[in-house]
Amino acid sequence: MHYRFKWFPFNRYFRQEPEIIADAPYRIEPGKKLPVLLLIKDAHQYPIRLHSVGISGSDTNGNLLEKQLDLELDINDYWWHKTVELETDNLLGDLTLNVTFDFSIRGYRRKRVNHNLPTSPEKPLIVHLAKDQLPGIDSGWRWGDLHFHTNLTEDQIEFGAPLDATQKAAEACGLSFVCLTDHSYDLDDKPGSWSETDPELQKWHNSRREVENLNEETNCILVPGEEVSAGNQLGKNIHTLLLNWPEFVPGSGDGAERWFQTSPEHQTAELVHNPADDSLAIAAHTRMHVPLLHKILLGRGLWELEDHHLANVAGFQLLNGSFDDDFEEALQLWIKSLLKGQRKYIYAGNDAHGNFNRFRQVKIPMLSVWDHTNQILGKCRTGIMLSENVSVKSILDALRQGRCVISDGPLMELKIETKEGKSYSLGGAINGDNIYISVECSSTSEYGNLDSFELFLGDLNHSQEKQIHQHKFKHETFSESEEIELDVSAVSGYLRGVLRSEESSGNPHYCYTNPIWINHPSD
Ligand SMILES: [Zn+2]
Ligand SMILES: [Zn+2]
Repeated sequence: MHYRFKWFPFNRYFRQEPEIIADAPYRIEPGKKLPVLLLIKDAHQYPIRLHSVGISGSDTNGNLLEKQLDLELDINDYWWHKTVELETDNLLGDLTLNVTFDFSIRGYRRKRVNHNLPTSPEKPLIVHLAKDQLPGIDSGWRWGDLHFHTNLTEDQIEFGAPLDATQKAAEACGLSFVCLTDHSYDLDDKPGSWSETDPELQKWHNSRREVENLNEETNCILVPGEEVSAGNQLGKNIHTLLLNWPEFVPGSGDGAERWFQTSPEHQTAELVHNPADDSLAIAAHTRMHVPLLHKILLGRGLWELEDHHLANVAGFQLLNGSFDDDFEEALQLWIKSLLKGQRKYIYAGNDAHGNFNRFRQVKIPMLSVWDHTNQILGKCRTGIMLSENVSVKSILDALRQGRCVISDGPLMELKIETKEGKSYSLGGAINGDNIYISVECSSTSEYGNLDSFELFLGDLNHSQEKQIHQHKFKHETFSESEEIELDVSAVSGYLRGVLRSEESSGNPHYCYTNPIWINHPSD
């Protein structure tokens, strides 16, 4: 916001104050404290004395939460932040929260509520205090956000949240992991700059060290990563998530750091050519709508069908913040690639740029050239099945092997049992036979009653996917299992499922499973 575009004499977003923001997760898992992030940026240019911060909230029943912090702090740092953790034991439902900053700047006393971004109204933060934990936690499922930007992403008009604050918010909202996927073109900037490249890569190295420290004692693992820009088969810039990559990979084609120089330095195929054992490459938001201006100014493109066949890409982040048209298009392209014999998996993230609670970035049509970011941390989730502790390695193994689902609420578990009593789960491969499909569906009051599920059989010989089973739940229930017998002895392909739940308001939620592969006996 403090960037003044050099071709305009005046920037209406410019204000003689540091940026001041309060944030909190959109939901809190039962038994967790509510972390409220207080963030002040650019106080090195606009020092303030922060007298106090008042946090006040009320829940669905009108019960009150009040916290007054008398601070009297002189703040003159580039980044200053503090997470305040509050008990919410006696509160229920949706908490409406207002955070008032009382400070002085250049001798003037000021009050700002929730933030001081001059262009968006001072709306309260809404935090859902969940009654139940996320589905499947008791049976070994762990949930995470595959695509998230921290304060390592920083440019003219936006910035994310610090790593420790991200970890606290993620844990409180029920996540066991967050993949930190800051832009390649931001990770190589000099600290404090958004356009000067740092040959020492201080930001990258420091963040790796910080992640290691933060992962030492936690229930929520930060998976280090980057979102790299590189060329697709048409020479357009597309994004790939490189998780736990051993070294920094440059990519600035669509970084808008050099106007009209948008050609990718690398092809995505080259970059992912030889991943280390404990690293993973995943296609980001494969069919996210690219505004015309981004196509022209930034040379941005989409993951095309040919790009879906890149070896060493484990799969696709189809779900990016909501089950929308982009998701549907991405899903269809994934199915096409499956029917061509590709064995690739699907994942979910939000591409939130530091937002825990609501979308609050300054929108400037000519300059707002970054990923659209009305997405928030943890709303769409990748669920992984783990029998061991959560660690960077166990998370990446589950993702690589397809032991995962994508969801914005409910959980569908799919298993295949053979006559011999062998059991196969998501990502596994069976030999065609007479099989028993076991389906377990679970939801909570937060995501509504189970509504229906479908099973799809992909048949490579006929290049088509068919719905082979549909089940409509007849009574109100949060949990149910089914067993279905099927003869797939002549099939080469896969089986996958989709579950739908529905809140009483009519709001739907979905879970899409990864496939279980079916080998034809002659394969
Ligand atoms: Zn992106
Ligand atoms: Zn992104």
